[in-house]
Amino acid sequence: MSHSAVSQAAAVSVPIGNERSLSRSVFKNNSISFNSKPWSSSLALNQKTTITRDAKRYTSTTICMSVQQTSSSKVSVSPIELEDPKDPPLNLYKPKDSYTAKIVSVERVVGPKAPGETCHIVIDHDGNLPYWEGQSYGVIPPGENPKKPGAPHNVRLYSIASTRYGDFFDGKTASLCVRRAVYYDPETGKEDPSKNGICSNFLCDSKPGDKIQITGPSGKVMLLPENDPNATHIMIATGTGVAPYRGYLRRMFMENVPNFKFGGLAWLFLGVANTDSLLYDDEFSKYLKDHPENFRFDKALSREEKNKKGGKMYVQDKIEEYSDEIFKLLDNGAHIYFCGLKGMMPGIQDTLKRVAEERGESWDLKLSQLRKNKQWHVEVY
Ligand code: FAD
Repeated sequence: MSHSAVSQAAAVSVPIGNERSLSRSVFKNNSISFNSKPWSSSLALNQKTTITRDAKRYTSTTICMSVQQTSSSKVSVSPIELEDPKDPPLNLYKPKDSYTAKIVSVERVVGPKAPGETCHIVIDHDGNLPYWEGQSYGVIPPGENPKKPGAPHNVRLYSIASTRYGDFFDGKTASLCVRRAVYYDPETGKEDPSKNGICSNFLCDSKPGDKIQITGPSGKVMLLPENDPNATHIMIATGTGVAPYRGYLRRMFMENVPNFKFGGLAWLFLGVANTDSLLYDDEFSKYLKDHPENFRFDKALSREEKNKKGGKMYVQDKIEEYSDEIFKLLDNGAHIYFCGLKGMMPGIQDTLKRVAEERGESWDLKLSQLRKNKQWHVEVY
């Protein structure tokens, strides 16, 4: 066998569910897979690593997991019952009846030269808050709503950045990719902590074991259509907008999901400020190396690269560069997704409109067809 399969021993935690409601949880399971640094390259799977997800709650048990240390290796996931439901789980927990989950880890995932901070946050839901790739969780930060004294804060939504199996491949965690919202006084240019974002700061400052109130899961627009495993998916993101795509790509290239064998094309366009701001780059670079036929990855680094007109390189400039191919793929039924800050859309739409006109096509007509065919998926915030 050219690909050598190796067994890895890892100390992992084995939480057995305290499930509140079976209708909310489709499984009970205690099998475990792991990754020493789950948000980074699956190469990490090749390291001999000992981890405990939550030192207080979990006891370490040595479990053997078979992981192929090769380019074609994929990680086993469980419980497979998570594939069973025909429809995605929706709003299992609501603001007045939220789920108390626990923080497993909070990790800064950008380098020192990135403007701002982005954290990868793993949350333990113990299997009670199942979700599908592309959905969001709501988070209710602790404290009182300043606009409604005595009432809790409003829910903030966060795209889930893991697959339904979570970063430990056991269906018990969900990961978020959160940018810390910081307020700078426009006059002094200084940070004003009293105006910093409440929920993003709560999340980025939280510690393993902290409790967190979750609602959801919500959202259908960014679900990964899986009826055709050979479809093309063009994914466009700015910053934390990459979160749902990390989930898609792990499902396509990292996990061994019996009923989803991806054989199509996934093409990711990611716009960030600079190299230090790239998110999950190790993971994506590994897919590029291992699946060059099925994955393309184009980055737009606005503060480091120039577009052909000498201006900053934004994600729409990359789209323009490949517009012929993108239009052909769309004509052949490709799905196109947009996720990230609202501000990304006007520039992208203008570019697509201009390209369509140059090709002698009506963008309005094309857009309405894409919407009608359910090829057009937008989640911006
Ligand atoms: P808030 O407390 O709600 O404040 C909002 C903004 O106002 C902040 O920038 C804050 O600095 C500023 N502000 C506060 N007080 C003042 C004041 N007095 N004057 C002027 N400005 C002020 N975010 C992510 O990071 N990752 C995701 O994956 C993600 N996914 C999302 C998915 C969806 C579907 C949606 C709708 C949103 C998503 N968001 C995501 C955004 C997220 O929901 C929050 O809006 C974001 O984290 C900011 O929330 P906050 O509580 O930190 O800030």
